Amino acid sequence: MARYTEAVCKLCRREGEKLYLKGEKCYTDKCPVSRRAYAPGLHGRKGQFRRKVSDYGLQLREKQKVRRVYGVLEAQFRRYFREAERQSGVTGTNLLRMLEQRLDNVVYRLGFGASRSQARQQVLHGHIEVNGRKVNVPSYQVKPGDVVAVRERSRRLAEFRDLPQILEQRAVPEWLSLDAARLTGRVLSLPSREAVDIPLREELIVEFYSR
Ligand code: SF4
Repeated sequence: MARYTEAVCKLCRREGEKLYLKGEKCYTDKCPVSRRAYAPGLHGRKGQFRRKVSDYGLQLREKQKVRRVYGVLEAQFRRYFREAERQSGVTGTNLLRMLEQRLDNVVYRLGFGASRSQARQQVLHGHIEVNGRKVNVPSYQVKPGDVVAVRERSRRLAEFRDLPQILEQRAVPEWLSLDAARLTGRVLSLPSREAVDIPLREELIVEFYSR
């Protein structure tokens, strides 16, 4: 399966903002974006004084940012966009909703994984079930009524053992519910635009693909 192999903190520095790709580290002063607020590479510092960015540049950066947040490669992202266009409603909102409905994102939103990439690994390694059946496809689209859980046999692993106590204190988005003690979540509804708590401008992505 294709995946990013670049150091993920570089992706944040390239976008010039925190994308929260590494879990706990993102909330500490070890975060490189807090310490070095310029793009990586030899010319990163020069980029701080770069001239005005074109409309195309802005659209491209926004598209790259959203791809990186959700860990989706270009070809798959374009497929999401085409599907979002086919659906009724606002294309940008449809796109974000489909990204939020990915199983790896839901596992992250429920708190089973500290980051989306850790959640993706948990799915790939067969630790997650949907409606009682193992699903190891990170892009699987959940729907209202689905029950997403850490599999019984996986709950004994160090990765999950202390999670129930930790998650007792955590809130989940309003379109999900969580039974922390049983490491089980339920999809209550489709995610609304307001449920996407990442600062982004999806209309720029629509403009990018509509050129
Ligand atoms: Fe991004 Fe997190 Fe790395 Fe900071 S620590 S640069 S927010 S991935």
